[in-house]
Amino acid sequence: MAKIAERIERVRDTVSSACERVGRDTTEVKLVVVTKSVTIEAIKKIVRLGFVNLGENRVQQLRKVSAQVAEFLQKVDDESSLPKKVNWHMIGHLQRNKVRHVLPIVSLIHSVDTLRLAEEINASAAKLNLSPKVLLQVNTSNEPQKYGVPVGAAAHLAEQIVTLPNLKLVGLMTMAPLTHNKDVVRACFVRTRELFVEMKGEKIVSPEFTELSMGMSSDYEIAVEEGATILRIGSAIFAG
Ligand SMILES: *Cc1c(COP(=O)(O)O)cnc(C)c1O
Repeated sequence: MAKIAERIERVRDTVSSACERVGRDTTEVKLVVVTKSVTIEAIKKIVRLGFVNLGENRVQQLRKVSAQVAEFLQKVDDESSLPKKVNWHMIGHLQRNKVRHVLPIVSLIHSVDTLRLAEEINASAAKLNLSPKVLLQVNTSNEPQKYGVPVGAAAHLAEQIVTLPNLKLVGLMTMAPLTHNKDVVRACFVRTRELFVEMKGEKIVSPEFTELSMGMSSDYEIAVEEGATILRIGSAIFAG
């Protein structure tokens, strides 16, 4: 268990160094700890360490562990150092028929990539009287099996999404391909940042459009260098 604390500390050090290299403030970069496939004990450890942004990529698991964590926080509310609540991030592909289960739990959905999904979120949110924050997932890797809207179609989709009253489009998300070629990875992040800047410049989006979710265990340093505001990290913290 001590290992998790050490590993997360190492991740934070690496983020700090990357920020320093490019003249960014570390407070600009949030860490979402991806808890998929780890035990509830490991998740509790993370929460005890004060990390409150947790991510899951599957709805069933999200529902299960978010309930377990909520119960844990309720039971131990005598421990004053513990956070009152955690923020759950839905980072994986979301099916429309699961939207209504996810909305009451999550603080940010990273994976909106079609108008149909955005419309479903909007309709469900209206019924639940919610106004969820979402990111537009962009496919920058050009791998056909990957989710995400193609770069060339992203601005148009964003224009349509911002007309939906019951959700808030707050940024972009992307996944680089799994490759050791750092230039390829960097190019994906650069493309996403450029798109982000362009969409803000053309005033397609609102002033709330501030988040760039990019960077996982294998590539988060590059993501920080290229402007990521949210990192989604699992195995660098839990594996091994
Ligand atoms: C699993 C997952 C991550 C974290 O991956 P690691 O390589 O374990 O850090 C980030 N984003 C998404 C969408 C994921 O599914």
